[in-house]
Parts: sequence; structure tokens; C-alpha cells
Amino acid sequence: MTDFTMTIDGKAETAQRSFGVINPATGEVFASAPDCTRAQLESALESAQTAFRAWRKDEARRRQSLLDCAAAIQARAGELAPLLTREQGKPLAKAMMEVMGSAIWFQYTASLSLPVEVIQDDENARVEVRRRPLGVVGAITPWNFPLLLGVWKLAPALLAGNTVVIKPSPFTPLSTLKLVEILRPVLPAGVLNAVSGGDELGAWITASPIPRKISFTGSIATGKKVAAASAPDLKRLTLELGGNDPAIVLGDVDPKAVAKKLFASAFENCGQVCTAIKRVYVPEELYAPVVDELAELANAIVVGNGEQPGVELGPINNKPQFERVKELVEEARASGARIVTGGKTIGDKGYFYAPTIVADIAEGTRLVDEEQFGPALPVIAYRRIEDAIERANATHFGLGASVWSSDRDRAAEIAGELECGSAWVNTHLALAPNIPFGGAKWSGIGVENGSWGLLGFTEIQVVNVNRGA
Ligand code: NAD
Repeated sequence: MTDFTMTIDGKAETAQRSFGVINPATGEVFASAPDCTRAQLESALESAQTAFRAWRKDEARRRQSLLDCAAAIQARAGELAPLLTREQGKPLAKAMMEVMGSAIWFQYTASLSLPVEVIQDDENARVEVRRRPLGVVGAITPWNFPLLLGVWKLAPALLAGNTVVIKPSPFTPLSTLKLVEILRPVLPAGVLNAVSGGDELGAWITASPIPRKISFTGSIATGKKVAAASAPDLKRLTLELGGNDPAIVLGDVDPKAVAKKLFASAFENCGQVCTAIKRVYVPEELYAPVVDELAELANAIVVGNGEQPGVELGPINNKPQFERVKELVEEARASGARIVTGGKTIGDKGYFYAPTIVADIAEGTRLVDEEQFGPALPVIAYRRIEDAIERANATHFGLGASVWSSDRDRAAEIAGELECGSAWVNTHLALAPNIPFGGAKWSGIGVENGSWGLLGFTEIQVVNVNRGA
């Protein structure tokens, strides 16, 4: 069977069936996870519902619990990080950053407050706006940052007084199961449950009448299904969905310096970041040097098994995604685009793909129009900045975008014209626990992080005390 257990009502739970988890660096199954049954999911949801009654009452205890969660994660980081590398593929140092980032997110969230706003206090009435928890939250996460993106949901949901059932991606269930196992002694039974299974398990969560909120991170296609499934009983929703972030380079930059930063933000986590740079717009006069610099960086980066020291870029996480990246690059090649470097797989095991720079490409190619979510970056030439802005905005995506220039004020003005949730200047992927993060258009609904993210796990209650006659 499996060494990994789900957490239901504070207890370890296995299942009759299990499913294999593949190490993307080898392409082989290295462990298995329990395949949660519908009855087990129901008991997880019911235990969360029962635990909600007491958990919602004591804010000071919840705040302390979040700090205890942070400490427990730090103490077991040496177990979590290698496991994350094995199931996700990212280099060990990056996995450790994700684990420590998860602890930091718990710590920071513990410092947030749930203010009571007094909007009237006179002889006629005292009117307070309070923030109440919603109840049981269903948290559904993807495979690129399973721990961090899970904690972005858990920490604020729990602080606000909700209880949670979390379901990680079937490609990366183990680090989340282990995380929640580590938190078992820290939290009262039922407050945080973890279940593992396939996509249908996520659909069962959204179909159940118990959760009052679904906090979902994943693709746009699945996000739409989650929204539709949540509609019949009006569950609250936060949807953090896909992106196709443009970076617009202005003509006044040093191509070498800018290429280095663009490359880092495009190839982080092997390009598997919702808000990685996914297309770069470069003015014609700088096009050749920027493309050449990007290609040089792609050739120099060390690709390999994330468990080995010195590796900077791991494999693509899973076979369907590996096939998709190959397909998008081949399609670009067939359409006449220039594969400056990369454009091929590496080795004969695992899902390694050479970091790829694609030039002489434009809209109308799927590599530009869709979210590639992998190590292949299209670089697009433009003549007029107005044209670049229009092309950057001509999409259903609206997660992040960046403008690169030595004139920060001008760049900030252009950034303001971009239709997205986060518009950066001379940086990209600048995420922090105190900064709200979310998508415009099809890239999402609601935000995570900061006090804004916390309020998303609450609803307003007005307490209006009449003092008049
Ligand atoms: P996915 O949509 O395939 O799966 C995400 C999660 O949803 C998984 O746990 C999956 O099992 C579950 N799921 C699948 N079908 C479901 C259904 N019908 N009902 C409920 N749950 C269901 O996404 P993925 O391939 O795991 O992740 C990659 C995508 O996630 C990319 O598009 C990426 O941009 C996006 N993403 C967004 C953010 C963000 O914050 N905006 C962050 C990371 C990843």
C-alpha cells in the first residue's frame, strides 16, 4: 500500500486503493498515495463542519495555532523539501525555499487582524461591520507549487475561523499529505483535513453542499467547471487561474541586463508558474541582441535531476504537460518561427526539455496565444509601443505583466494600461505575503494574500444596535 496517509478528523487514513506518483526526473513511480473514496471525503467534510463550531470562537487560539504551524514546518523542512523535489521535479534548493516560504506565510498571516469597523456610534445607533468566517472551505491546488499555494489558502482560511479540506493535484499529492500530517498535532481534530485522489475528487468537493467556499488554483478550464459546480448552492469562490503574462521591453534598456532578468522570470520552476513571463515584446532595434542574450542564458543553465547538486532547472512535472510543450514548439517551428535554441527533449528518461527561445513569431501561434506553462519562451518584435500594449492586452488572460525601462515613471504609466492583476516595472513575479495577488479577466476571481486575501475567507455581518426611541 502506501506510506502516505490522508488526514481525516485528526487521524491518519489510508484507502482501499492507491495511485502511483511519478518522479518526473525518472518517469517512474516512486511512491503511492491513497485514493480517497466518496464516503471518506464525506467524513472529512463532516468532521470539518463539526470542528467549525468551536474553532470559529477563539481568535487568539487560532493566531497562536498559525505560529505553531510555521514552527512545525520549519522543524520538518528537511523531510518536506526532498519529497517535494521527488514529486514535483524542482531543484532541492528551490524546494527548500518553497517549504520555508510556506512557514513564512503562516507567520505573516498570524499577524493580520479581522477588524470590526464602527461606521456609526451616536445617540441613534451603533453600527458595526464585522467579519464572520464562512464555514468549511474546500481548497483545491495544482502541481507547480503544491505546498506554497496550499498554504496561501490554509493560513488565511484558518485564521478567519474556517475549517478546511484540502485536495492537492494527483501529480503532487505527497508533500501536501505530509504537510498536513506534520500539522496534525498542532491543530484540533477536523480543523484541517487532507484527501488525495484524481480530478473527480475535486469535483465531489465542489458538488457537496457542505463547503461554503471553494478556494481553487489551477487552469482556466477547470476554474470554469468549479464556478459552474459552485453555482447551485452559491458557494463563495476564489479562483486563481492561468496566465499568459507579457513582458514589454522599451528601447532604453541594456539588452544584456534585461535579458538576464527576463530569463529568470520566464524559466523559474521550468516555466511552470502561473505568473511567469510567457511572451516577451521587444522593440525592433533591440530585438537581435535581446534574443541572442536569452539564447545564451538558455544554453548555459544546468538542467537535470533536482536531487543532484548544481542543477538549476528540473524536468517538466508530468507527461501530459511535457507532450503539450513539445507540441506547441513543434507547431511554432512548422509555422515558420525560428527555434533559436532548445526545441528538443533531453535524455531518454523523465520529462526533460531543453530551455527554448523562439524568435520571429507573432500572435496567431498557440505558443504566443495560449499558456505554454513550460520552458519555451516566444520573443516578439514590435515597432510602436501603442501596438505592443494593444497586443499584450488582446487576450482573455489577465494575471500579470511587466514593463522594462530605465525610465521608471514612463514604464509605470504603461504598466497602468495593462489589463492584469499585477503590473510590474523592472521586475516580474514579485510576490509577497502582504501584497494581494489575483487575476483580471479569465485569470481569476478574487485575490489571495495580505489583508485582502484574508477578507476573502469571511463575509460581512452588520450588527446594528438601535439606540433611538
Ligand atoms: P488543473 O486545473 O488541471 O488542476 C488543478 C486542480 O484541480 C487539481 O487538484 C485537479 O485535480 C483539480 N481538478 C481537476 N478537475 C476538477 C474539477 N472538475 N473540479 C474540481 N477540481 C478539479 O491545473 P494544473 O494543471 O494542476 O495546474 C496548472 C494550471 O494552474 C495552470 O493553468 C496555471 O497557470 C494555473 N495556476 C494558477 C495560479 C494562480 O495563482 N493564478 C497558480 C498556479 C497555477
